Amino acid sequence: MRSRGSGTRAARPLKYSTVCTALRGRNPRNQHRLYGRSRLQVAAIGYNQDMIVNGTSATPASHPTVSGAELPRLAKKRFLHDAAESVRDTDHRAFIRKALGGYYVSHNAQKSRFRDWEQARDAASLAKWSAVNRLDELLPRFVANFEANGGQVHWARDADEARTIVLDLVKAARAKAVIKSKCMTSEEIHLNAALEADGYGVVESDLGEFIQQLRGEPPYHFVFPCMHVRREEISDLFGRHLGTAPTDSPEELTMIARRHMRGLYIDADVGITGANFLVAETGQISITENEGNARLTAALPRVHIAISGFEKVVEHLDDLAVLLPMLATAGAGQPMTCYNTLYAGPRQPGEADGPEEMHLVLLDNARTAILADPEQRDSLHCIRCGACLNVCPIFKNVGGFTYGTTYQGPIGSVITPHLRGLADWNHLSGASSLCGACSDACPVRIDIHHHLLHNRRNAARTSPNALEKIGHKLFVMVARRPWLFALGGKLFRQTLPLLKALRPPLLRDWLASRDLPQAPRESFRRQWERRRPETRV
Ligand code: SF4
Repeated sequence: MRSRGSGTRAARPLKYSTVCTALRGRNPRNQHRLYGRSRLQVAAIGYNQDMIVNGTSATPASHPTVSGAELPRLAKKRFLHDAAESVRDTDHRAFIRKALGGYYVSHNAQKSRFRDWEQARDAASLAKWSAVNRLDELLPRFVANFEANGGQVHWARDADEARTIVLDLVKAARAKAVIKSKCMTSEEIHLNAALEADGYGVVESDLGEFIQQLRGEPPYHFVFPCMHVRREEISDLFGRHLGTAPTDSPEELTMIARRHMRGLYIDADVGITGANFLVAETGQISITENEGNARLTAALPRVHIAISGFEKVVEHLDDLAVLLPMLATAGAGQPMTCYNTLYAGPRQPGEADGPEEMHLVLLDNARTAILADPEQRDSLHCIRCGACLNVCPIFKNVGGFTYGTTYQGPIGSVITPHLRGLADWNHLSGASSLCGACSDACPVRIDIHHHLLHNRRNAARTSPNALEKIGHKLFVMVARRPWLFALGGKLFRQTLPLLKALRPPLLRDWLASRDLPQAPRESFRRQWERRRPETRV
């Protein structure tokens, strides 16, 4: 299938070397200032854009009722239980660490190919920053250009609406079979379960997603969906479901999936994809992938449906010259992902291939609530590269399933409370060492670990924990009285061995996988005074 662009700009190839060209002479700080004023107050253009422009819809995402959804009140309990189990599973932790070891090596190697990685991060951050802060202007521009290319846009306020829109489109297409490429927004709205409940067969065409579908599991990691699965397990899985002979060869395993998939592309009436970027100036959808399955999913079936959060808009095609290599390097340690395709509407008269219809479902699902929050708005800059997961000590220890969310790891812990309710999901923000590795790794410079603190603060304000409140009050009382603080320290030092032995309920979970340190014989203050007697007060 040929991707149509608009004029010569669309035809310009995206090369790794263009990144450095794009970076030269840019001063992100000044450009941030250029767009410094809020431009979110413009005339409303119908319901949906009004919602975006004013950032006020903030309709809480209803918890999907289809299977795969989490019962919110159980989320925290299950998280604590699963986290404790995963931490004890040393085999699983070692396997994940080994899998990520390869990523670190290639990530560092590819980063070093950038003339200036930090400047590239500034440029990527600026591209997303200026787009998200001008959604009022850029979304209508994208929609107008996308529709001029022959595509149809559908606005979905929440997961229910998005599922209804997709199901209606699938029904209208009289589809018997649906094929999907990797699409995290479809995971977010629990689309597969809804399609299956309505009697439609749906097949994941991304290899990792296909493996997860056969295993009956959600993605473990939103970039590497089956990173926790060993090669021999995949071979067994294919043997059971596809009747293939055991093999240890990754190439052969890939070919098995490929042979199985080819016929399904031909049979499918509807192909569903996600979108990595929505280019406002050309009305094109950019999809980046390593297997070529998204191209086939979008090109072969009669109807192509793309599902995307509205925050994926970028202004210029040139922005992709920065964002695509950053996404590939930060996410998978690649210089560029293998296939980078721009989709611009359905097949036109005289064209040999492409779908008859192309639809784009633009999803809100509480993104307007994030947009309306100046403190955390930059979490909408996320390009879903997964780098923050790969470096997170918590993710490496508890694993992807423990989160119970579509988006795992640090960024998932930031946005899930917005998408699914702070009261039920604020525990995720506590699952952080606040080391800041996530923020350092983020190619678009999202201040992730501070957003975790913002969520903690907001949760403490909106649903205070009585025990925590008493604890804080006690601490303030003690900390304001030096003699009491010193006495408390002395008592603590002396009773530490007893606490270790008795394991009181409050400390039991903590002590289950840790040892308390030896208490020093003297307090810090006494040691300090001994070394620097002149500071004695
Ligand atoms: S928050 Fe940053 S590092 Fe994490 S997935 Fe998004 S873009 Fe990547």
